[in-house]
Amino acid sequence: MKKDLIVFAAHLDDVELAFWGFISTHYDDYDKIKIIIATDYVPKRKVWTENLERMKDYISATTTPHRFDVIEYTNLGYEARKGMTDFDNIKDDFYKLIDFNKRFDILTHDDKDCHTDHFALNKIAMGMYKYANRFVTVYSPSSTHFDANYWIPLDDSQWNLKKEMCVKYDIKKEQSYSKLGYYLESEEHWNIGKSYQMESFVHTDDKYYEVYRIIKWL
Ligand SMILES: [Zn+2]
Repeated sequence: MKKDLIVFAAHLDDVELAFWGFISTHYDDYDKIKIIIATDYVPKRKVWTENLERMKDYISATTTPHRFDVIEYTNLGYEARKGMTDFDNIKDDFYKLIDFNKRFDILTHDDKDCHTDHFALNKIAMGMYKYANRFVTVYSPSSTHFDANYWIPLDDSQWNLKKEMCVKYDIKKEQSYSKLGYYLESEEHWNIGKSYQMESFVHTDDKYYEVYRIIKWL
């Protein structure tokens, strides 16, 4: 029996933007990848549902024998941007979904993330730190400081799928106060790891990178 990966993300679209590199690189290490998204947002639901199927298709197409049932998805149904207000309820729901009889890794947001929903989820997930084999946080362009220590290269098929999934979201439906900083439209944001990687790892040179921070790795 393998372990599970628990992906704990705040919003519909977070997984495609910042978690996909880890998922699409490591899926075969896991029995189940349990994607738990804390908030719902009706204008994004259709795109997310389609993207989820694309990710499942990617995994089934690249496993032998084909694995069709790796990803499970749960939405906790809270309102976006109210993660701090709903903190204890999200925490309670999340902890009740944990199977403590199983070994698991956690992939979630980083605590230096400026989005309060992202920050709240990191703090909630940290409660499971002692039970997790591995605890990894994702880089988001909205992080102030990020002590990245894990660069994951994306090959063309991983990158192309990421790009196709991200462009389907409509920036005009974003819940932004300023309407500035269009992370959903920018390849520079999606390929956030590349410039760091070029400078620090001179002997490897892939075109696309996502960056993560390993907090714990057993
Ligand atoms: Zn988000």
